[in-house]
Amino acid sequence: MQAEAPAQGEVRPRKVLDRLKPYSPGKPIWEVQRELGLERVVKLASNENPLGPSPGALEAIQAALPDIHRYPDTQSVLLKEALAQELQLRTEQLVVTNGGDELITLLSETFLEPGDEIVAPSPTFSEYEFGAHLMDARVVSVPLAEGFRYEAASLLAAVNERTKLVWLCSPNNPTGTYMPRQELERLLAGLPQGVLLVYDAAYCHYTAAEDYTDGLEFVRAGRPVIVLQTFSKAYGLAGIRVGFGAAPEAIIRRIMQVKEPFNVNALAQTAAAAALSDKEHVLRSRALNAQGRERLYAGLDQLGLAYTRSMSNFVLVELGARAHELFRALMAKGVIVRYGDIWGLPRHIRVSIGTEEENIFFLECLEQVLQESR
Ligand SMILES: *Cc1c(COP(=O)(O)O)cnc(C)c1O
Repeated sequence: MQAEAPAQGEVRPRKVLDRLKPYSPGKPIWEVQRELGLERVVKLASNENPLGPSPGALEAIQAALPDIHRYPDTQSVLLKEALAQELQLRTEQLVVTNGGDELITLLSETFLEPGDEIVAPSPTFSEYEFGAHLMDARVVSVPLAEGFRYEAASLLAAVNERTKLVWLCSPNNPTGTYMPRQELERLLAGLPQGVLLVYDAAYCHYTAAEDYTDGLEFVRAGRPVIVLQTFSKAYGLAGIRVGFGAAPEAIIRRIMQVKEPFNVNALAQTAAAAALSDKEHVLRSRALNAQGRERLYAGLDQLGLAYTRSMSNFVLVELGARAHELFRALMAKGVIVRYGDIWGLPRHIRVSIGTEEENIFFLECLEQVLQESR
């Protein structure tokens, strides 16, 4: 059958584009200020570090500015060496990417043929699905258990001979729940050969549970796992875009084949290396987050709202049937959070933990909009 000719001025795009949903980011502060004419706007929608970047990272960027007429290092060697030392890995086990998001796309491009399958929990980070659709692969979604708990068995039950990648976000975005080490062992033990587990540990720096693992022990042991980390969250560098993957060498070598040579800019490489060595900033961020999370729990308890206890820097809050209306009303007061419909959770919002002031402002506004919407 002859395909219809495209209209004038159009070129027929790949068919898979019909299935790609646009990413829906948290609104930036300036946009809400401009649209609603508000002075004070607090953004608790993208799990950014409320303390800002490490001062050391800013200095490193300043120092590197005179050299930006030079191309960046294609391999991010200095950053890889710092990471290897810090994480007890070899540089051959690392790939540095333009944010963790780029690693997700690179993994999809490296491993997924049309008709291949990925297994991903639901709800989870939307970019795994994006990568699969981009490559015309199929997404097999596995609902989380009661209380958004992870179960290895249900993920394993979804794996078949077409499965290439199993995605696991722990702590999970947007639920804040995690998979305990033993359960992860069970998952790995049950995976057939030829399947790679992608362990997204974007939020590992905020975890405290004894039975949490950042997954790197499995990489060191040579298991078929790639761990994703990012400098966008605890390290406070979301705007400059750096992430990395840690995996057995053979996996890294394959990813290198599809990576663009200059994927990570020079300022990002040096900023990330400086942030990595600023242990104090990460510890402060972590402590502020743990405190803020408790403050948020207490406030939500007082308002009689249900929420999921989180191992991360955000909390999923159940607002019920009025959730969308309340989300809009919060925005009108200058508090940007994320509405849950993008994860199939129309009764929920996800709120990032901010500074003490921001958390209190959020709770005050939430109390007001709850009263006003009665
Ligand atoms: C933020 C995030 C990432 C990576 O973000 P980048 O800014 O692209 O580094 C990856 N996975 C999850 C679950 C995230 O929330």
